[in-house]
Amino acid sequence: MQFDAILFPPRRAAMIAQGFWRDRTINDDLDACLQHRPDKEALTAVSIERGETRRLTYRELARLADRLAVGLARLGVERNDVVSAQLPNWWEFTVAYLACARIGAVFNPLMPIFRERELSFMLKHAQSKVLIVPKRFRGHDYEQMIADLRSALPELRHVLVIGGNGSNDFGALLEGAQDETPEAQALLRRNRPAPDDITEIIYTSGTTGEPKGVMHSSNSLVANVVPYAERLRLGDDDVVLMASPMAHQTGFLYGLFMPITLGARALLQDIWEPRKAVETIRSEGATFTMASTPFLTDLSNMVAETGLAVPTLKIFLCGGAPIPGPLVERARKTLGTKIVSAWGMTENGAATLIKPDDDDERAFNTGGCPLPGVELRVVDSDGAPLPNDTRGRLLIRACSNFGGYLNRPHLNGTDADDWFDTGDLASLDDQGYVRIDGRSKDVIIRGGENIPVVEIEALLYRHPAVGQVAIVAYPDERLGERACAVIVTKSGQSIDFREMIDFLKSQKVALQYIPERLMVLDQMPSTPSGKIQKFKLREVVKESAPSAQAAAGG
Ligand code: ADP
Repeated sequence: MQFDAILFPPRRAAMIAQGFWRDRTINDDLDACLQHRPDKEALTAVSIERGETRRLTYRELARLADRLAVGLARLGVERNDVVSAQLPNWWEFTVAYLACARIGAVFNPLMPIFRERELSFMLKHAQSKVLIVPKRFRGHDYEQMIADLRSALPELRHVLVIGGNGSNDFGALLEGAQDETPEAQALLRRNRPAPDDITEIIYTSGTTGEPKGVMHSSNSLVANVVPYAERLRLGDDDVVLMASPMAHQTGFLYGLFMPITLGARALLQDIWEPRKAVETIRSEGATFTMASTPFLTDLSNMVAETGLAVPTLKIFLCGGAPIPGPLVERARKTLGTKIVSAWGMTENGAATLIKPDDDDERAFNTGGCPLPGVELRVVDSDGAPLPNDTRGRLLIRACSNFGGYLNRPHLNGTDADDWFDTGDLASLDDQGYVRIDGRSKDVIIRGGENIPVVEIEALLYRHPAVGQVAIVAYPDERLGERACAVIVTKSGQSIDFREMIDFLKSQKVALQYIPERLMVLDQMPSTPSGKIQKFKLREVVKESAPSAQAAAGG
């Protein structure tokens, strides 16, 4: 597979000269751990689904990675081939990435919530050779789902099933792989990726009708993870809880990549149960976690309800979605944990963070200030810089910025000076702290999960009764936002909420993307040129009383 990461080469010389690109890969860090702390616990995977906790030392982790690497190579995976993994926060997730890194394969994490529609697009677009899935997770049969898609995916040579019982069993491949033979050792040495090679492709929900494949190299990932850990003063004695999905950039970077970079311990939880999280933090001594606001709300409510304190937890880093100040303030008091607010994207990682010594007020009111190697700029609609405290389009130029969208360079949104348009609206204060204040891009962020509005609207346009449709957000206390579909039907036609849900389900879309309310109007508010005025719809939807529909939406 050829990767058109055209944004990397022009950036390289300056990044190396300034020390922001370190020319390291995860292999260097894993090898360092193997050398200096082989018997340290690297990974503790608490699985609610499987009812077990799996512990791996660095030695065991590296061995499993080598074995899977050899197993994948034996299946025909070569350098620059894409290996997709649709996995929960299980130990196999970490092993799968490390195995890919051992042989220069490109890792493509896929969210467990994805269904046939998202999966078939992404697997095809990334030309994945191998897909790793659980047999079942949360009642869903992944093996069956992928079996139904196989015929339309000619590039996909192998599906490895965790808990499978056929010839495609992940465990059998791992067991059977001989990693100690001279040939295997030579293979593991020969195919190591270079720091500028693409190491990860991760899809971000499209604002353009289709998901976009964000390309990262080891250099662009390490350029975020190292300054992030330095700012937070995280080190090898930290225990990093990750209960947010590892198939999101947050989980991947800070629940997998960073702990190995630091030689720390990763503590994974596969299903979000706040009570279990509190127990795990207490029993395993978690010191740090990162997640979006609903996790913070739930954790703080659980601690308040049970009186079970979490004294080891030094920092809760909250980002990925708008962060309501009062929530952060309440959580700070209840948990007694420093709450660090952050802003970032899949394209660049958490790029702004407050500093641990900042006043709490900073976390209540801003998304922090740039990490070293990150520059921000707020501009007007013509691209002219705006004064401090003035709201405008947020641009970022960063050592951790992605290399481009796979096979879609025209969507890279990056100018000749390497400034990337984030699609967020924000202002900067005189100390460089950013305040995120809306979006120019059309996405809805439901509990940290971005809903691809344009894609779901396009699906609804296929319904025979739909004349016009617009999906807009309405506020929700826990999730921040939920989605409402506003529809004008074709004359003589009708659609109700249940029909809309059934229709979208029949399109095999991720359940979390399905609007939780429907409003049918006679006419859309539009500009003279016919463009739907979503800001007016948001007001109408916000003011109309939520119906029982939200509960039915799932
Ligand atoms: P993530 O994995 O962090 O959710 P995404 O790429 O899915 O990354 O979403 C990034 C978007 O999330 C940003 O462009 C912004 O709209 C939103 N976001 C991230 N952090 C914040 C924040 N602190 N405040 C408001 N919105 C945020």
